[in-house]
Amino acid sequence: MTVSDFAHAVTPWVRPRGQRARTVAYEIKRHGAGALPTLQPNVLFNTRVRTTSNSAPASLMSVLVTGGAGYIGSHMVHALVDSGESVVVLDNLSTGFKWAIPRGVALVIGETGDEALVSRLIAEREVSAIIHFAASIVVPDSVSDPLGYYRNNTVNSRALIECAVRGGVRQFIFSSTAAVYGNPAKVPVSEDDAVTPMSPYGSSKLMTEIMLRDAGVAHGIDYVILRYFNVAGADPKLRTGQSTKGATHLIKVAVETALGKRAKMDVFGTDYPTPDGTCIRDYIHVADLVRAHSDALTYLRAGGRSATLNCGYGHGFSVLEVIDTVKRISGVDFRVDRAGRRAGDPAQIVAQSDRARELLGWQPQFDDLATIVTHALAWERKLGTLQN
Ligand code: UDP
Repeated sequence: MTVSDFAHAVTPWVRPRGQRARTVAYEIKRHGAGALPTLQPNVLFNTRVRTTSNSAPASLMSVLVTGGAGYIGSHMVHALVDSGESVVVLDNLSTGFKWAIPRGVALVIGETGDEALVSRLIAEREVSAIIHFAASIVVPDSVSDPLGYYRNNTVNSRALIECAVRGGVRQFIFSSTAAVYGNPAKVPVSEDDAVTPMSPYGSSKLMTEIMLRDAGVAHGIDYVILRYFNVAGADPKLRTGQSTKGATHLIKVAVETALGKRAKMDVFGTDYPTPDGTCIRDYIHVADLVRAHSDALTYLRAGGRSATLNCGYGHGFSVLEVIDTVKRISGVDFRVDRAGRRAGDPAQIVAQSDRARELLGWQPQFDDLATIVTHALAWERKLGTLQN
């Protein structure tokens, strides 16, 4: 099956001739207690489906992307569409945006923990693979609302995995995090090192890793767990980027400050045991991270064994180095205040990243902090025009 084997086909999922392609939202209608919700499209849309010839539709064989309207998820959806995949997005739009999804891709608005909805979606769209991004991701928020994090990240993921097993989904790619390592005993940290999360966020993700591994053994679902280090930057084509209001991540905060969207920013902690006293992180370009998912999907489809892999470049930058880079690239000497430590922050975390390269053939293309910051700044400028 090659990209040229994909073609438009006339199914109930396909937009009528002459109607403008657009993203689809589904309303979930319940018909009495215990009844299955009905996925009811409120607009028809076009989608590309697999065919065995130029005309006859065969199988949808979709990839389900949870959290596909969010920051990393929307980059993934663009990449999948670029490579000719049929994609369906499940997102509750709590932090995501409809516009972040490419035209023609189905968006189902709902929760990953809604088993009836997800089961139906898997069956109707013939979902063969799930890429699971949907999650709450702010470390300090997880410290103040641990049960909310365990519900959204752990309990909902348990439901999704069960639906995947019951629905015969073959491949599952899970967005995990370097936060599972907590404050690692050594840097760079390898996948085989101890996992000792120091925030409910890290624990909530680690629990999902454990569930997935156990389900893999018991039920034969193949998975790749990707442990993200610090994701930043934007689509080089500027189709999507980090757009969440009130974002807390360092590069996002710094570019917002450079562009005058914030009056100043804080450095959280200057007394860590690092060369300049600020925390060190391994910043990875979102496009390279997404490529690791695409490589993981190809790997699993080719029969690769389940694996847990770090996604980072293998070198880190301090908070002050990041801020200096944003100042240099933007040309703006914005105000930076020194503040106290933030709850749940490890001093230093950098990936040992050779396993993803060896197993998946992953080849990062944007391993350069200046490039990451340049793309983040360009997206932030574009976002300003979109929001005005
Ligand atoms: N940070 C900071 N000021 C900010 C945002 C973040 O000093 O406005 C620091 C934060 O304390 C941590 C590092 O930048 O040491 C990376 O934080 P971020 O939230 O980007 O990612 P995390 O590593 O927590 O996932």
